[in-house]
Amino acid sequence: MPAAAPTPKAVLHQRFGAKAVYTVEEVREAVGGCPGLAPQTRSVYRCALELPGLSVATPGTFVRKKDAEQAAAQIALDKLGIQPTTNIPSTPEEAWGELIARISGFFIDENFLSSTHPLVGHLSVTLRRTGDLIGSIPLSAIAACDVKVNTLCKMIDPRAEFDPLLVLSLMYNAAKQSPGVSVSDSSFWIQSQRPYSPEAVDLAFKRWFGTSNPIEVEAILVPHVLEDEPKIVRINLRDNEHYMTYVAEKLTASDSSHVLVSRTIGKTSSEIRLYFAAPNVQFVSDISKNELACLGDGDINCQVNKRASYISGQTIYGDALLANIGYTRRDSELHIEDVNLCTYYRILLGKLPDGNCKISRDAILAAELPSVYSRFSWKGLSPRDLLCSFCRNQRLSEPIFAVSRVSCDMLTSTASSEERGAPAKSVENQCTNDVKTDKENPDSLKCEVKICSRKQEILLEYSAADTWSKESDAIQNSALKVLIWFNNYFKQLNTKTDELYLPECPDGFKIHPNVFLQEFAMCLSVYGNAGCSDLEMCTAVGLISMDTPKKHLESTTSLTHIKGPDSGVFPSHGSLTCICYTASLVTKDKVKRYMLESHDEFEFEIGTGAVGNQLESCVTQLSVNQAACFVAKLPPRDLILAAASEFSHDLSNVSRESYFLEFSVKVLQVTEPLEDRMEKALFSPPLSKQRVEFAVQHINELHATTLVDFGCGSGSLLDSLLEHPTTLEKLVGVDISRKGLTRAAKSLHQKLSKKLLVQTTVPTAVLYDGSITDYDSRLYGFDIGTCLEVIEHMEEDQASLFGNVVLSSFRPSVLIVSTPNYEYNPILQRSAMPNKDEDADENAGPCKFRNHDHKFEWTRAQFQCWATDLAVKHNYSVEFCGVGGSGEEPGYASQIAVFRRMTRNLEPICQNEDQDQPYELLWEWPNASIPV
Ligand code: SAH
Ligand code: MG
Repeated sequence: MPAAAPTPKAVLHQRFGAKAVYTVEEVREAVGGCPGLAPQTRSVYRCALELPGLSVATPGTFVRKKDAEQAAAQIALDKLGIQPTTNIPSTPEEAWGELIARISGFFIDENFLSSTHPLVGHLSVTLRRTGDLIGSIPLSAIAACDVKVNTLCKMIDPRAEFDPLLVLSLMYNAAKQSPGVSVSDSSFWIQSQRPYSPEAVDLAFKRWFGTSNPIEVEAILVPHVLEDEPKIVRINLRDNEHYMTYVAEKLTASDSSHVLVSRTIGKTSSEIRLYFAAPNVQFVSDISKNELACLGDGDINCQVNKRASYISGQTIYGDALLANIGYTRRDSELHIEDVNLCTYYRILLGKLPDGNCKISRDAILAAELPSVYSRFSWKGLSPRDLLCSFCRNQRLSEPIFAVSRVSCDMLTSTASSEERGAPAKSVENQCTNDVKTDKENPDSLKCEVKICSRKQEILLEYSAADTWSKESDAIQNSALKVLIWFNNYFKQLNTKTDELYLPECPDGFKIHPNVFLQEFAMCLSVYGNAGCSDLEMCTAVGLISMDTPKKHLESTTSLTHIKGPDSGVFPSHGSLTCICYTASLVTKDKVKRYMLESHDEFEFEIGTGAVGNQLESCVTQLSVNQAACFVAKLPPRDLILAAASEFSHDLSNVSRESYFLEFSVKVLQVTEPLEDRMEKALFSPPLSKQRVEFAVQHINELHATTLVDFGCGSGSLLDSLLEHPTTLEKLVGVDISRKGLTRAAKSLHQKLSKKLLVQTTVPTAVLYDGSITDYDSRLYGFDIGTCLEVIEHMEEDQASLFGNVVLSSFRPSVLIVSTPNYEYNPILQRSAMPNKDEDADENAGPCKFRNHDHKFEWTRAQFQCWATDLAVKHNYSVEFCGVGGSGEEPGYASQIAVFRRMTRNLEPICQNEDQDQPYELLWEWPNASIPV
C-alpha cells in the first residue's frame, strides 16, 4: 500500500527541522456586504516562511492558518527544487540521509517537546537531571521508540531487522553526522547541542510526568546459558530517574547507554521487550560496511542468547531482561506492567502451533491441536488463523493459500500436482468465495499452501491430495495439515540430537531444506538438544502432545469419585461434548492446592484429539451430569508455569516430585455426532432403527438361531434385537473398541438381568474384543452375520480383507453389510442444516464424509463392484437393497448388500484353539460379570 504523500511542511521539517520558521499574519477581510447593512468581516491568513538562506511568503490569503503554512512551504519547495512526491527513500544512500535528518529532528525542533512522541517521555525525565547527562538519552531509546528510524535502518541494511546491535551502530554513526546533536565518543549518549528553552521543557514536563512514586516492577531474566532457568528479577524505579538506568544495573551494563532494546514482543500494543548489555564491539563508521568489529574477548557469537533471540526474532547477546516498561503515545506516564514466568512461558508456547491453539482456547492444560477440521465443532482460532499467526511469530511471510479446481478426469488420474497445471488462484491470507461450488461435481476444490521466508523464498509447500466442495474447507483442512506437520517436526527435534535434521516428508509435502533450516536455525538451537542437558527442558516448550496417535490408543483413565447417577447419555465418537473442569496442582501431602485452569463450559468434539488423551478417556466414561476426578500425567514444567498465572512464582521453586495434577470434570451436555443428527433429521424412524428392522426381518425369514455382529460398537443392534421377538438363541458381538464393548456389556447386562425380554427363552450373549479382519473359529458357520456401518471405518484394503476373511473363513449362511451411500450425502447435509439456504454454498456440509472417522464413502457403483467381486470369489450370491429414502435416484441413504452362501452344507472344521481363537472373551451371559 503506498504511503500517503507527506505534506510540504512535513518535507521541509525533515530537511530543516526548527530552522524553518513560519510567521502567520491575520488579516480582516470584508465579505458579502448587503446594501444598507454594515460590511461584515472575517479573519484570513497569510504566511511568511524563513529558511536558512531563503525567505518566501504567500501572495494571497487563506481561510485557515494551516493552509497558509502549507502553501508557503510548497512555494519554498518549488524554489529549492525539492520534489515532495514521496518521503520514502529508494536507495540506502537516501535512507542514510533521512536517518541523519530524522535524528537531528528530534533534538533541534523545540516543538518536538510538546508532541506525544514516546521519545519525549525519555527526554523529559533526562531533562530533570543535573550535571553532565542533563538531556542525554541512550541512543537505543530512539531505536525503541521510533518506527521510522527502524524502517530507515532496514533500508540501509536489511540485516538491521534482526540485529539491534547493527541498528545501534547505524544510529551512532548517523548521529555523529546529524547537525545540532552531539554524541559521546566512548558511549552511546545523544543530546541536543544547545539547551532547550524553559518553555519547551515545561511543555514536556506537563505531558510526561515521569514516575511519581518509587515503584517495583517484575521482569524475567533470561540467562544466555541454556541450562540456567529464567528467573524473576525485581526492578525498583525511583522518582525522576530514567528507567533504563535501573535496567542497566540489573544487566550489569556500565551505564544505560550500553543497554540495547529489542522490538516489542507479543501483541502489537505490548511494551514487552528484551533488554541486554551491548557486547564489547567497535562500530566502524562507514555506511558502505556497517560491520561490527569485535573487541577483546573473542567471538561474540558465543554470547548469543538463543532463547531470547528465538523469542524476539532478533540477535540478542548475553543475559537478557524481559520487561514491560516504556513510554507510549497512550500513557502520559511511564507504562509499567509486571512480567512473570507465566508471561514468559506463554510467549514461548505461543510460537508453536499447538501452543498457540492452547492459548487461543485459553486451555493450556486441556486443549490440544485437533487432528481433524470440522467447521461446526472447531473451537478457538481456525487452522488458517493459527497458521498465519505461526508464520508471523516465526517471522515468516504470510502463508499463501492457492485454491484451484480439479476437473473430473484429474480427480481420478494419478498425475502429480505439477503436471496438472490447473489454474491456481492465490488467496493470500484472505478467504474469498469466488470459486463457486460446482453442483455437478461437488468435491472439486483443492488448496495448496506455500510457506515462505521474509525474502519470499519458499521453505515448505503442501499440495493437498484431498478435494473439497467449499473453498474455506479446502483452505482450513490444508492449513491444519501444515500445522500438524510443523508440530510433528518440533516434536521430533526433541528426539533427534542432530540439529540440522529434517524428516522424510509425508505425501503432499515438499521441503526446501536450505531455506528451511536457515529460517529455523534459532528455533532449532532452542528446541534441538543443543547444549540442553535437562530432557525436561527440551520437552518443555510446545513439545507437548507427545502421545502416540490418539485414536487407536484406548488408554482408560482411572477415575476416582464418580458422582451422580448414570443418565445413560454418553459422549461418543464424533459427538460435541460440553464439560466443565478444573485442573489443580496438589502437593503430595495434599496440604496445598493450586488451581491452574478452569472452565465453566468447554466444548470439544470427541475423537478429534481436541483434548489430551486422559481427559477424553475420562469424559467418555461419564454420562451427562456425572462428575469425576482423575490424576493426570504431570505436564512439562514450562506448560505448568504457562498455565500457572498468579502462582507461577510459587511454583517455579517446587520440585516435580512433590505434587500431582488433578482434573475434576463434569459432563454437561452431549450433542450427537453430525452423522446421527443428519440421520435423525431426515428419517423416521431414524436410520439406525431402520437398519435394525432390516436385520430383524432377515433373521426371522431365515429362522436364524445364531448371530454375530461384526463391529458391534456399543451394542445398539444386539440391544435392540432383545426388544424384538426373534428366533435367536445366541448373540455375539465383536469389536476392537474396549470402550464400545464395555458400554455394550453394561446395557446388555441390564436388559438380560431385568428379564425385560420379549422372547420366551433367554438367549446367550457373548462379547469379544478383536479385529474382524482376523478369523476366530468360535464364530464359524453362524446363521447370520451383520456388519452395519463398519467397513467405512476401515481403510479400503482392510475392508476388502474383512470381506475375504468373512466369506472364506467365517462362512455365515447370510451376511448383511451396510455402508453409507456417498451419492446421498448432499440430501442429508442440506436437511441437517435447513436454515442456511440463503447461502447455497453453506449447504455443502462440514466435511465431505458423514463422519470424520470414515476412511471412505462409496457410491452405489463402488459398493456393488466390491460386493459382487467378493461374492463371486467365495461362492455367495449377493443382492442390493438399502434403508432411508425410496431407493430412487440417488439411491438409499444407507446401502446394504445381502450375501447368501450358495453351498448349503458346511465342512466341519477342526478347531485349533491356539491358532484360531485370537479374540479375547470380554463378557458372557449367563455367568456374566460386567467388565470395567
Ligand atoms: N455397528 C455399530 C457400530 C458402527 S461404528 C452400529 O451400527 O452402531 C463402527 C465400529 O466399527 C466401531 O465400533 C469400531 O470400533 C468398529 N471397528 C472398526 N474397525 C474394526 C475392526 N477391524 N475390527 C472390529 N471392529 C472394528
Ligand atoms: Mg459410520
